[in-house]
Amino acid sequence: MAPVNRPRSVRDRNESAWLLPKDGRRCDPALVEGMRRFADDDVVDLVVVGCGAGGGVLTQRLARRGWRVVCLDAGPFWDPDRDWVSDEKGSHHIYWTDPRVIGGSDPVPLGSNNSGRGVGGGTVHYAGYTPRFHPSDFNTRTADGVGQDWPISYGDLRPYYEAMEEELPVAGQSWPWGDPHRYPQSPHPVGPNGQIVMRGAEQLGIDVRVGPVAIVNGGFGHRPHCIYRGFCLQGCKVNAKASTLVTHVPDALARGAEIRPDSMVTRIELDDAGRAAGVVYIREGVERFQRAAAVAVAGYAIETPRLLLNSATKRFPDGLCNNEDLVGRYVMVQGAPQVTGRFEEEVRMYKAPPPEVSSEQFYETDPTKDYARGFSIQTVSPLPITHAEHVAAEGHWGSVLREYMRDYVHWSTIGVLCELLPLPDNRVTLADEKDRFGLPVAHFDYSQCDNDRKLIEASEKVAVSILEAAGAQETLSIQRYAHLVGGARMGATPSEGVVDSNLRSFAVPNLYITDGSVLPTQGSANPALTIMALAARAADHLAASR
Ligand SMILES: Cc1cc2nc3c(=O)[nH]c(=O)nc-3n(C[C@H](O)[C@H](O)[C@H](O)COP(=O)(O)OP(=O)(O)OC[C@H]3O[C@@H](n4cnc5c(N)ncnc54)[C@H](O)[C@@H]3O)c2cc1C
Ligand code: SF4
Repeated sequence: MAPVNRPRSVRDRNESAWLLPKDGRRCDPALVEGMRRFADDDVVDLVVVGCGAGGGVLTQRLARRGWRVVCLDAGPFWDPDRDWVSDEKGSHHIYWTDPRVIGGSDPVPLGSNNSGRGVGGGTVHYAGYTPRFHPSDFNTRTADGVGQDWPISYGDLRPYYEAMEEELPVAGQSWPWGDPHRYPQSPHPVGPNGQIVMRGAEQLGIDVRVGPVAIVNGGFGHRPHCIYRGFCLQGCKVNAKASTLVTHVPDALARGAEIRPDSMVTRIELDDAGRAAGVVYIREGVERFQRAAAVAVAGYAIETPRLLLNSATKRFPDGLCNNEDLVGRYVMVQGAPQVTGRFEEEVRMYKAPPPEVSSEQFYETDPTKDYARGFSIQTVSPLPITHAEHVAAEGHWGSVLREYMRDYVHWSTIGVLCELLPLPDNRVTLADEKDRFGLPVAHFDYSQCDNDRKLIEASEKVAVSILEAAGAQETLSIQRYAHLVGGARMGATPSEGVVDSNLRSFAVPNLYITDGSVLPTQGSANPALTIMALAARAADHLAASR
């Protein structure tokens, strides 16, 4: 499916960056207060659940095409000037911290620092690394005998990757891995943490590149240049880092979409013909029903399957679209150990955006190894509280921990992302526990397989060796996970996936899922760019099918 009439100029297809104020404020209150409003009884063309990476792009794309779109988000409509602080401890409110239950042999800690809440979703607090997936990610089952083949190829997504890279925009060096490509903005200067990682990698003959990051280098529309003060994960108050709040929402509002914040969707309703009729949501303590001709769910890898499971009907007694017992299954996280090393010189790793330098040299399956698939390497530069977690993870506490923290400016940190495999029992189900809306909360079980364990171990050794080659006097490691995806995956047939190659659910013809939960595999690339590209592609399909 070719993109529908994609204008050549970025501004002609997405004016967001030019709709932001030029006077130093980070959002235009007139645009937000003056947005079009629909009544619950209006049968809008599309209601979107969640305004994050996938939902924000879908809303903008279809508003541009004249669709009457309402996007409901459970969290607030952020004003960066008013709501965010450049402070690690003061930023927990931008994360989804509602209760969840975890289990399995390798449980994934959820809550703070895991998924986003509010307009912009996870892109408000993400680091801004925006690599593409590799062509091999789309057929790991055929090529490597693991994972699952996608019902689309890399070539199907390439035009959408290019479009998103222009709209965010992405800065970085020419990329030699996967499908080699260039970026619209030149690479940022590299801070002290990035320089150490480059030095160590060079000693070992590991190829690294600067970027790719969705952080403005030089200016873009009315968005300013990055000021390199390192608070990307706390919500960039400068507007230099791309989030859909600044990259897609302004254009969506200007084109007539309504983005309704503080609206928790509790249920998708079907009509007698088995088509989605709209969504039930709670706003200011009142239950309402927004009617719509079509519904798109974009609530993230845990909340999307939870909403489907909570929307059981007589026809779908085990959860909406769960007639093949696939909803909630194959949820993935990347293994993400981080290694921090002490250097004689002062590093001050906070003096740059955490995403700076990366390598995909180990991304593909290496037949000489005893595991399939691979990992990527990235700088991460944690602020002090996160650094303290690293130190404590090695058992240091009390006065020893305090001494380590006094030494913070001498430490440099590197992270890896491992492609852990999709497994059916890594799944979201409903717990007995209820949330403040009276809805069963998500129960997420996660266990690693042998391949996962071998890969994590190998990747951590490479990370340690890079810091040692750069001259680290001591290293500390922490085991972590990153980037939840899956749970409502796409497939070629209903027995392989919840949605088809255009993200339309097999079971309900006017119900779409347009977020990270549709990914069949995750590669070892950060997922947001791929989620946005998939949502833009689904928008073309929706527009063409009307
Ligand atoms: C610390 C951190 C750093 C990260 N760094 C990177 C990075 O550098 N690069 C990268 O690619 N990815 C990164 N990620 C991951 C990235 O943020 C997510 O993969 C991405 O945002 C997921 O997109 P999504 O559309 O699936 O969901 P989200 O962007 O999370 O959007 C979901 C939205 O749905 C809303 N919602 C959920 N349920 C409901 C409901 N029932 N009713 C109404 N609204 C609802 C939420 O409030 C939220 O706004 C990072 C994540 C974390 C935690
Ligand atoms: S380092 Fe740059 S992108 Fe990150 S928060 Fe600061 S200004 Fe924003």
